[in-house]
Amino acid sequence: MWAHEQLCAEYGAPFRFFSTKDALSELISALLSHRTRNQESHKAYQQLRARFPTWEEVRDAPTAEVEAAINPCTWPEQKAPRIQAVLREISQRCGGPCDLTFLADMPVAEARAWLESISGVGPKTSAATLLFSSLRIPAMPVDSHHHRVAQRLGLIGPKVGEGPAHKLLEALLPPDWDAQQVYDHHEAFMFHGQKCCYFHTPACGRCVLLSQCPFGQARLGKPAEPTPGK
Ligand code: SF4
Repeated sequence: MWAHEQLCAEYGAPFRFFSTKDALSELISALLSHRTRNQESHKAYQQLRARFPTWEEVRDAPTAEVEAAINPCTWPEQKAPRIQAVLREISQRCGGPCDLTFLADMPVAEARAWLESISGVGPKTSAATLLFSSLRIPAMPVDSHHHRVAQRLGLIGPKVGEGPAHKLLEALLPPDWDAQQVYDHHEAFMFHGQKCCYFHTPACGRCVLLSQCPFGQARLGKPAEPTPGK
């Protein structure tokens, strides 16, 4: 993972985990954050927790009240019923209170499959739930920044979408990586997308990956050097 080493050095890994939420709280937080700025989804999450202290109360509340509580995020009218449906499904499957701590006892692939079999939970949400939460399970989310950088480096094909990219990029990781290593990888790629490999005008001229990046080399009119192993 040549790009991993260089980006981790560039952005100062190891990175501190930003969340200590339990898995279910992380899942709801991820659902709220879909296509919403961090500040707004954080506000929606805080308001929801203040209005309904338990997830069972959110599940059983009138949907209009949940919608009002999460108003700062985008599409609260869609997210409120979806969140309640997710909570109902988890309760039904687990036969009791809403809780996801049992996922800690599953292999990563099984835990991901369990979450992704819930309607409205995709690979990014399942990975974020497992990795970012206090479970610290080594599942790798791929956000738009991570996806763009990986695509420009040629780690995935130009037509591979964010969803299918999860399996392809995860297959490139050493299988024995722990949660911190997977987190560092994701964060380093994400930071690179935010700070250098911009969507419109990537700063290829100052990029630490330029010598092995086909996209950057093509932009600057130079041939890319052979990749020292992906
Ligand atoms: S060389 Fe350019 S396109 Fe390639 S990773 Fe760096 S900034 Fe992105």
